[in-house]
Amino acid sequence: MIVVMETNATLEQINKVVSRSEDLGFKAIINKGEIQTVIALIGDETNLSNTDLLAELGGVMKVERIQVPFRLASRTTQYADSVIEILPGLKIGGAEDLVVMAGPCSVESEEGIILTAKAAKANGAKVLRGGAYKPRTAPRTFEGLGELGLKFLQQAKDETGLAIVTEIMDIRDLDLVYKTADILQVGARNMQNFSMLNELGKIDKPILLKRGMASTVDEWLLAAERIMHHGNNKVILCERGIRSFDGKYTRNVLDLAMVPVVRHLTHLPIIVDPSHGTGKTAWVRSMALASVAAGTHGLIIEIHPDPENALSDGPQSLKFEQFESLMKEINKVYAVTKPLYYPN
Ligand code: PEP
Ligand code: MN
Repeated sequence: MIVVMETNATLEQINKVVSRSEDLGFKAIINKGEIQTVIALIGDETNLSNTDLLAELGGVMKVERIQVPFRLASRTTQYADSVIEILPGLKIGGAEDLVVMAGPCSVESEEGIILTAKAAKANGAKVLRGGAYKPRTAPRTFEGLGELGLKFLQQAKDETGLAIVTEIMDIRDLDLVYKTADILQVGARNMQNFSMLNELGKIDKPILLKRGMASTVDEWLLAAERIMHHGNNKVILCERGIRSFDGKYTRNVLDLAMVPVVRHLTHLPIIVDPSHGTGKTAWVRSMALASVAAGTHGLIIEIHPDPENALSDGPQSLKFEQFESLMKEINKVYAVTKPLYYPN
């Protein structure tokens, strides 16, 4: 961390910054320039939650962190990739095989989810997605079947053996969601629901942490850090696109650079959601293939038996035959790109 002093800072003010820094556990090195003094602080910055303790002192112009603000999630703390077990025999992260999660946006009916689960499995998906509790912008739209939706997911799991990923919207539903979910999804809108993240940090199942639609990378990784801080290291990150100024042709801006960036910064697995990332069926294929080429550990893709009549996100859902051909292409791209990232 560095503390930049104002041009007119007095020696007394500089000394005060040094003594406060030492009290906070840092070693302070004063660099006196011709115009300004810069104080370098050596030590673990993640111990200092609030730089205001230094910024508020007289004569201080600014305080800048150098280290990343997250520690448990950081690759500097753990160099090797985290590999997370979803179910016995199914792992994600590191050199484990690409994990494709597929299913409808929302669980709509028993027949629909079982049909979809079978199509997902037949084409190589390992995880069935489907929301029982749906975050909807407008009231009076379909908000999911709730407990009944979880029951249908459980039936689909029993029939196919697929793992289940489903969203937890409200921590009061934890017991119910926990029973059925193999991965609990935190949606973009809840990425900074800190009290929920705290509770999810106390469970032993993997958490799929979607990137908030207006979150910086640090905010996203600090949300992961929060879950880990409370004891749950099984965090899977999910890039699902962010808001930008032009929402005319795509629903979100899918930030594919997050795959290499997150893999550089953290040891956690990252997956990509090209469905919410684009909002349009026609763009899902290219972005799914590009994600694989970028080195993603997995994908989460919306598929539906009849997208035109889906109760949510039909315009971005793939029909089963589209998913079937996409999976063939994904496998082709993956066969070429996996050895680039994992040569052995
Ligand atoms: C979803 O997965 O259906 C969903 C609501 O995603 P997000 O939270 O990324 O919008
Ligand atoms: Mn959706």
